[in-house]
Amino acid sequence: MSSLDAFASEKLARLAKRSLLRTLVETTRTDHIWVERGGRRLLSFSCNDYLNLSQHAAVKAAAIAAIEQYGVGSGASRLVTGNHPLFAELEGKLARLKGTEAACVFGSGYLANAGIIPTLTSSADLVLIDEWAHSCIMTGGKLSGGRVVTFRHNDLAHLGELLVQHRATHRHALIATDGVFSMDGDLAPLHGLAALAKTHDSWLLSDDAHGIGVVGGGRGSSFADGPKADIDLQMGTLSKAIGGYGGYLCASQPVIDLVKSRSRTFVYSTGLPPASVAAAIAALELIETDPGYTALPIAKARLFTRRLNIADAVSPIVPILIGDAKVALDLSRRLEDAGFLVVAIRPPTVPAGTARLRVAFTALHPDSEIERLAETIRPCIPARP
Ligand SMILES: *Cc1c(COP(=O)(O)O)cnc(C)c1O
Repeated sequence: MSSLDAFASEKLARLAKRSLLRTLVETTRTDHIWVERGGRRLLSFSCNDYLNLSQHAAVKAAAIAAIEQYGVGSGASRLVTGNHPLFAELEGKLARLKGTEAACVFGSGYLANAGIIPTLTSSADLVLIDEWAHSCIMTGGKLSGGRVVTFRHNDLAHLGELLVQHRATHRHALIATDGVFSMDGDLAPLHGLAALAKTHDSWLLSDDAHGIGVVGGGRGSSFADGPKADIDLQMGTLSKAIGGYGGYLCASQPVIDLVKSRSRTFVYSTGLPPASVAAAIAALELIETDPGYTALPIAKARLFTRRLNIADAVSPIVPILIGDAKVALDLSRRLEDAGFLVVAIRPPTVPAGTARLRVAFTALHPDSEIERLAETIRPCIPARP
């Protein structure tokens, strides 16, 4: 065996022993909330398609029309020949939705953070990241070459201390957080973060991958708590509630111009296919014209949390904390036997010892099935101390 294969095999064996091996399971998403897996038809509570727009007739029609008109690929980086006319329309819509001067569409949410953060910060700078923020924020921080410091989850006092300790010795400082936390479903205290950023001459980035389309009347977490939070950099993804694929940043004109000129993941990566851009435009039109629909995923999540008598959901994501990775996997299998797909989330996606079921609700989940899921999960919830 080559040393490379030996390395890979040994690493795989160690992961398997700790129930941390990950394998792909073929899954066919058939109709909005139903999936086929291993020959079984399951009701999915593990898709981020919160508004079920990935299968919406108008969204699919827009994608098909764009393929007919422009072809399947964009052909090059947007700065070369890949900037088909749909991009300007989508960026205009995103900027309007988020209340900013301008927007920039990226290949994905991951590429957005991996590009934005190193464009704005470098070795003389400080990047402060919530400890539970998404992996791509940490990737962006590492790629910046700046000093990366994590603050305790949603802990404004801790962040304040870190700013007092480190801000003065760095040229610029960027604070980065999820707006809606992807594995916990809670919201960041964006007004408090914005106030700290202002006090300490720092910039604030919120990642609204799980907020756009579903909180703040569909406008995202900056709009979830009274007046719009003052956030310099509102980024997010088109791949969850928006139903398709792609990432975005909404910010001031100079920031967007700089990102389009300097972000490596924007400059050196091919533009999104026309169909993805057209689908996002159609999805945003639906969100703009029917803000009532955007309230449904949280309402469905609340039905579930009320049934289980646990804290009210504030987003479509409800974590059921289990702890041990193997116990979480077993529980997920038992739910499959009952007809539900609720995938177990294990470290390193979540901190060690906090394996969980992550239950994600969408607009079209029937109440009766949500109640049945709650009854099935109830006996499995670990007793609270
Ligand atoms: C899913 C997710 C991303 C990545 O977005 P993609 O478009 O899937 O690459 C970024 N940030 C958060 C918080 C996410 O949950």
